Amino acid sequence: MAKMRVAQIPRAGGSFEIVEREIPQPGPGQVRIKVQACGICHSDSLVKEGLWPGLQYPRVPGHEAVGVVDAVGEGVTRWKPGQRVGVGWHGGNCGLCDACRNGDFFGCTVALQVTGISFDGGYGEYMVAPAIAVALVPEELSSVEAAPLMCAGITTYNALRNSNARPGDLVAVLGLGGLGHLGVQYAVKMGFKTVGIARGADKGLLAKKLGAHYYIDSQTQDPSAEMQKLGGAKVIIATVTDGDAMSAAQGGLGLNGTFMVIGAAQSMAASPLFLLLGRRSIKGWYSGTALDSQDTLAFSVLTGVRSMNEVYPLERVAEAYERMESGKARFRVVLTTGQ
Ligand SMILES: [Zn+2]
Ligand SMILES: [Zn+2]
Repeated sequence: MAKMRVAQIPRAGGSFEIVEREIPQPGPGQVRIKVQACGICHSDSLVKEGLWPGLQYPRVPGHEAVGVVDAVGEGVTRWKPGQRVGVGWHGGNCGLCDACRNGDFFGCTVALQVTGISFDGGYGEYMVAPAIAVALVPEELSSVEAAPLMCAGITTYNALRNSNARPGDLVAVLGLGGLGHLGVQYAVKMGFKTVGIARGADKGLLAKKLGAHYYIDSQTQDPSAEMQKLGGAKVIIATVTDGDAMSAAQGGLGLNGTFMVIGAAQSMAASPLFLLLGRRSIKGWYSGTALDSQDTLAFSVLTGVRSMNEVYPLERVAEAYERMESGKARFRVVLTTGQ
């Protein structure tokens, strides 16, 4: 049997180990992907630290995988060997439960699957994924370019396009890290009057470089007051994982404004009176399905939005993961397999 290398987490809280395994065969309805690149996402810590209930180990993380279809299982007609594809967080759903019948695939109650959690993900030379979880990658994007768009990209792009903001509206992106640096670019390209909010003057230069029209330094300015001076935000996309930073920014919402949470903070404070008097809302957003990923990739090609990446070979996975965890990466960390 042909072998492959994967980077697995042997147990909750364990360290990465590079191991050899047999290359898996795709079952019915599945495709096998020869992985070329896979982004490292902060959510991969759910696997590393054992924070996902019922997760089976060993597990190969990775839900920003991009590579070439190399074999397809029985009944797969949509995908063919040779096509370059990506797999994101949403790893599949049943299609038959009431949530699925309603189009809320993220809420499937029967067979909701998460890539790199329910089944092995992209930190390896090959992976097998349900055909329903696969997105076509346009040739204009390299695999390293496409990988971070499969989670960081789709999450910000899809939250923005499903928000109630219209071209010309004031839209703020809270946090200018892996998600936020993409969020600012997408917001600008969608025609929003875009505000970047982060800590420190140096991030102001970054915000301008990414195309933001305004920058608010939350270390020296009150983000809520500054947004109100600009007329109040129609939408604030909160990419940070710090609840205090969210609390400090939610007061920047204008009338009918929506605070869209995509960073998994523990808790945040909000004023019910402020919400109801201005008919404001706080809402969470789930990344999206494979077709949303495909739309994200196409929009990125159309408008030139790209992730800034630090690239590591698969064998340096532990170092690459540490780099992501340090918060110092500029801005996404991507593993490559050399294939
Ligand atoms: Zn992710
Ligand atoms: Zn379902």
